[in-house]
Amino acid sequence: MDTKCLFCKIVEGTIPSKVVYQDELCYAFADINPQAPVHVVIVPRRHLDSLAVATAEDQALLGHLQWAAAEIARQLKLVNGYRVVINTGVDGGQSVEHLHLHLLGGRALAWPPG
Ligand code: AMP
Ligand code: ZN
Repeated sequence: MDTKCLFCKIVEGTIPSKVVYQDELCYAFADINPQAPVHVVIVPRRHLDSLAVATAEDQALLGHLQWAAAEIARQLKLVNGYRVVINTGVDGGQSVEHLHLHLLGGRALAWPPG
């Protein structure tokens, strides 16, 4: 039975994606339904359901993912700023149960979010 989640399949290449950045810990790709001129999804290579189940052992990984978001923003020259979002759980609007960061930029973003 195939039990791998969508983003695990993207990480392993079974499902195609437009890679933006990758290293030993994470994989970043263009969102298929972009909400801004720049919309990158950053996922850890290792499956983790969501931020809500992250443990103390995941602290370095969480830091790395945020650093990766900033590094990608630098590479994409988002000099006016950007937003990094982690939708978590039902109320957070998480639709894929593999921890991921959204990097959004290229336009002024409204606040508060919907
Ligand atoms: P969330 O709603 O926070 O769980 O974010 C999931 C994101 O994954 C959404 O922004 C989707 O557009 C995006 N997404 C879903 N399937 C794909 C895919 N095959 N390739 C790229 N992005 C995807
Ligand atoms: Zn996964």
